[in-house]
Order: sequence, then C-alpha cells, then structure tokens
Amino acid sequence: MAVVGAGLGGLATAARLATLGHDVTVLEQAAAVGGKLGWFSRDGHSFDTGPSLLTWPQVHRDLFAATGAPLEDVVDLVRLDPAVHYRFADGRRLSMPGTPEGVPGALDDALGAGAGREWTDLMRRAASMWRISEEPFLRTPLDGAATLARLSRRPADVATIAPWRTLRGLGERCLRRPELRVLLDRYATYSGSDPRRAPAVLATVPYVEQAFGSWYVRGGLHRLGRAVAERAADRGAVVRTGSAVRRVLLEGGRAAGVELADGEVVAADVVVSGADAAAVYGDLLPPDRRTARVRAGLRRATPSLSGFVLLLALRGRTPGLAHHTVLFPDDYDAEFDAVFGTGRHRGAPCPVPDPTVYISAPDDPVLRPDDDSESWFVLVNAPPHRPDGGVDWDEPGLADRYSAQLLDVMARRGLDVRHRLKWSVARSPADLARDTGSVGGSIYGTSSNGVRAAFLRPGNVSPVPGLFLVGGSAHPGGGLPLVALSAEIVAGLVGPA
Ligand SMILES: Cc1cc2nc3c(=O)[nH]c(=O)nc-3n(C[C@H](O)[C@H](O)[C@H](O)COP(=O)(O)OP(=O)(O)OC[C@H]3O[C@@H](n4cnc5c(N)ncnc54)[C@H](O)[C@@H]3O)c2cc1C
Repeated sequence: MAVVGAGLGGLATAARLATLGHDVTVLEQAAAVGGKLGWFSRDGHSFDTGPSLLTWPQVHRDLFAATGAPLEDVVDLVRLDPAVHYRFADGRRLSMPGTPEGVPGALDDALGAGAGREWTDLMRRAASMWRISEEPFLRTPLDGAATLARLSRRPADVATIAPWRTLRGLGERCLRRPELRVLLDRYATYSGSDPRRAPAVLATVPYVEQAFGSWYVRGGLHRLGRAVAERAADRGAVVRTGSAVRRVLLEGGRAAGVELADGEVVAADVVVSGADAAAVYGDLLPPDRRTARVRAGLRRATPSLSGFVLLLALRGRTPGLAHHTVLFPDDYDAEFDAVFGTGRHRGAPCPVPDPTVYISAPDDPVLRPDDDSESWFVLVNAPPHRPDGGVDWDEPGLADRYSAQLLDVMARRGLDVRHRLKWSVARSPADLARDTGSVGGSIYGTSSNGVRAAFLRPGNVSPVPGLFLVGGSAHPGGGLPLVALSAEIVAGLVGPA
C-alpha cells in the first residue's frame, strides 16, 4: 500500500493500516515529515510554523490507543488556561478561561453583565448541533447528497442545525454584543472560511474548544507529527522522505501504485493520498471522465484562506503575556473582503491592510535560547498565492513590506516589539504552497463558504477504485482533529489486510 504525503493525515492512516497488517510505504516529497506541522529553529529560537492550538485531543488519543501505547506516553499535553487573551478594537480585553465553568463570569467581567448568559445560551445550542452532526457527518464517509438527505430526516435536528443560516446570521440572531459576534465570526477561519457565507453549524467549533479544552504539546506541536511518524514506523510502515510522487498509476481502471519524480515506480494495490485534493485531481491523476465531477466541484469551490506567518526572535520578556493572544481590528468584514476578493475588494483579493493578529508565544524553555528572550509565532489571514489574477506573494519586496506593516499594526494595538526584535522570518502563502504542496497555500483545501460546501468537499473514497483521500482538503475537513478523523475513516474503509 502506498501513502502519498507524510502530513498528519498520511501518517495517521499509515499507522492505522500498518497496525491492521498492511505493508505500508509513505512517500513524502519534503526532507522532513509533518507537512503543515512544521518547525523552524535558528540561534536557539524555535517555532512551530503551522498549528499552534490542539483541540479535541480525544481523536488523537483514539489514534494512539488503536495503534499501541497511549498518546500521553509519547507527548506531553498541556491544557491552556486562559485559552486565549483577546483584545478588541475599542480596547476591551477578555481572557477566555480554559474550562467552561469560568467562561460566563469572565465574559460578564469583560463585556458587561449578561454577556456570559448570551454566550452560554449559544453554546448550549452548539452542543445540540454537535450531538446531531458528530457521528453521522464528521465520523462517516461523505456520500454527497445522500449524506445531506440522511441528516435531513428529523425536522427537529434540521431546525437546530439551521442549514439555511450562516455563522454570521446565527451570531446576529443569538448575540447582542458586537464583541461576542466578533468572537463567533473568528471560528469560521478555523475552516478557512468567511463567517458571512459559512454555515451556522460552525458554532460547534467554539463549543468543542470550550468543552474539550485548548491544548499545547510541550516542546511544540510538531512533536505530535513526529510521534505519529514514529508510531507508524513502529508498526512496520516505511516512511521515505525526499520522494515526490509525480502520478498515481492506473491499471485496468484501478489505482496500481505511484510513480515518483525520478521515475521510480512503487506498485501498490491501494493508494491513499494525503496530498491536497486539488493537486491529486489536477496533477497526479489523468483527467478522465470518472473524476470530471470532482474536478468541476473543486474549480467551482472557493479555496480556503491562507496565512502569512511571521516568526519573531525577541529580546526580553513581555509581562503578563498569554500563550495565545488575538488582536482584533476595527472592521472585521474588511478583512474577509480582502482575503476572499469580495465586497469592496470584489475580484481583487489583497494582503489585509489591518488584519486580526494572532500571536502564539508558548512559555516553553525549548523554544528560546535563554530566559531573557521570547519566540513569537504571528499569524494573519491571507489570500492564497495566485500570481495569475490574485496576490503574487513572490513579488519582490512584498513579504518584507508586509512584515513591517504587521509589526506597525501590532504596535498600534498595544504590542510594540519593534525595539526588541533580533530577527524575523516571514513565511508567505507561496512558501506554504512550496513546502507542503497545498495549492496556492490554501490551509484547508476548499473553504466552507456556502451552505452546502461541506457536503461538496472531495470524499475519502475517490471515483478511482483503490484510491482514497485523507487530510485537510478532503472530508471531513482541515485542522488536526478532523484530519486525524479522516485517517480513521479511511482505515475503516480499507479494513484489515
Ligand atoms: C499556519 C498554519 C496554522 C495552523 N493552525 C492550526 C491550529 O492551530 N490548529 C489546528 O488544528 N490546525 C491548524 N492548521 C491546520 C493543520 O495544520 C492542517 O489541517 C493539518 O496539519 C493538515 O494535515 P494534512 O496531513 O492534511 O496535510 P499536510 O500537513 O499539508 O500534509 C500533506 C503532505 O503531503 C506532502 N505532499 C504533497 N504532495 C506530495 C507529492 N506529490 N508527493 C509526496 N508528498 C507530497 C506534503 O509535503 C505534506 O507533507 C494550521 C495550518 C497552518 C498552515
């Protein structure tokens, strides 16, 4: 069996299938495993370059339990409290507790009496949405319209999910305070989407974060990727880095293996691809009739947003700095218009002039050279790299100019670190595309923009017999927990050797 890509999706599938007795070879184009779970070190400063927040750890516990020793034996999970420190445009601050009990009081204190109640009522509704959608949607292979029909059988469930309503619409209906609406809107970006077009059911994302916690992996989240790679190898899978797959080979209409960039053929009765679905259907497979519908769907869908990352090596320490800080702008809609090329930026996406700034600064000695320094990961939403008609992130000087602009934005919002900067490294959507093969550097494949978008995602079973898709660009979606779930689904579909 051949697995394309050693991101979390490919590695988790490899670990599960090797445990089920398959001969598994993972082929990774990059020099290291982990994919978007990247890592950068220089002069004693180290950074996760991708995920910085782990939610719903049970999915990862299930993976490790199904393949050998428990997750907690191989990585050190730390529950964060506060989960996030928010600063709103009007200067209000909110430290969101890491356990649900503290949330209403913290909201009342930060945003006024009654704020906690508003949010709690919404989270109660989100809990119901979660109960309805977890098993039949997230944990089940996608079957297009049939999945939608299955979910639509009970009118009470349909009323709870409100598939006709957007996340923004839900916020406007259930939340009076603008700050709470902004908080809710932000969760659309966890699937790379625009809250004005993403479905209301994404309210389950803050519910999951609140109910199951926000977590850090001591030493950096990239350790999770390495641990899964080690688990796969322990169970007998062979993981080959520096092995780019050029195409999926077909024999008698079935997947029969893969051909590498240097011409080597790796024969396999089953191929599982963890590469970006748009690249699988666009580049790795011949454009035949069977895949035409999926290719057309991918062309029609809005790609998910990408991210512009700044890694900052800083002198000195910041008093009271939280693990995660979010600095909101004055005009959130302007950000989504710039990223998706809508509204005032119709047809012309651009780097967001005044973006929401997300800072992850773990207080972890592994990440810094000494106790008088800090390593900050700074992330803002960005349009994907599209030199033909979108933003060309490789345009000379653009990344440097934008980095300086972001430092100014942070300074205006109360976190001025310009005088403490030893050095910085920028990673644009173009870098992400090059490093991980994600088309344009879209973080989550296609976005959930549109009420039916989640049902139109590429499924785990491809139209080519013997070819399966895992990972953030396939069902059930992006982000570490859903990617690990996709591996569970695919391992279940392939079954024991
Ligand atoms: C900046 C950033 C921040 C994020 N923050 C979070 C967060 O806080 N929490 C969270 O849960 N998620 C977060 N995510 C999303 C999360 O990282 C992804 O959803 C997840 O890691 C994707 O895993 P994957 O296996 O689907 O894909 P990838 O990690 O992209 O893995 C795909 C692998 O396939 C390889 N590949 C591609 N094409 C080929 C080929 N032809 N031949 C061989 N190999 C190939 C790539 O090199 C790569 O290693 C973030 C992502 C980014 C980029």
